[in-house]
Amino acid sequence: MSTILLEVATPDKGEVFAKDINMLICRSIAGELGILPKHARLLTELVPNALRIKFDGSETLLFVSGGFMEVTPEKITILADSAEVPDDIDVERAKSAYKRAEDRITGFKNKGDTEIDIKRAEAALARAKARLLVKGVPIP
Ligand code: ATP
Repeated sequence: MSTILLEVATPDKGEVFAKDINMLICRSIAGELGILPKHARLLTELVPNALRIKFDGSETLLFVSGGFMEVTPEKITILADSAEVPDDIDVERAKSAYKRAEDRITGFKNKGDTEIDIKRAEAALARAKARLLVKGVPIP
């Protein structure tokens, strides 16, 4: 089966994932994308999501907070503010972040606070949701 190199890196941790894979499924700002080896060149922005990475007949999930993805026929490069393999995700922290973001959204809406504040809380909620998804934890 043909492969394509996937590299995921963050400014803090450097390389988080690097492997020859068979397929990547991810979510860009334009919707879900499936990337196979020899894909056409592409540059896009990702939203917070659980990357689905297929290789060696199995599938693994990896959290990315968003970021930029460059695709060439041989290589996929993702640069994100944060990215975590399942073992590195602290479930309790993600649950707290989820609750905090939800409370903030409700509070802001009640107080009629700014659109930017709500957007920030919604982004935090999306990150927490994606982390819980990677860990297979039901969303509260
Ligand atoms: P929190 O409010 O809990 O900090 P966050 O979504 O705002 O969550 P980020 O800004 O995405 O956090 O990440 C900041 C740093 O903390 C990154 O290095 C990221 O990998 C790490 N991080 C955040 N949440 C978790 C988690 N639940 N488990 C492990 N690492 C985490």
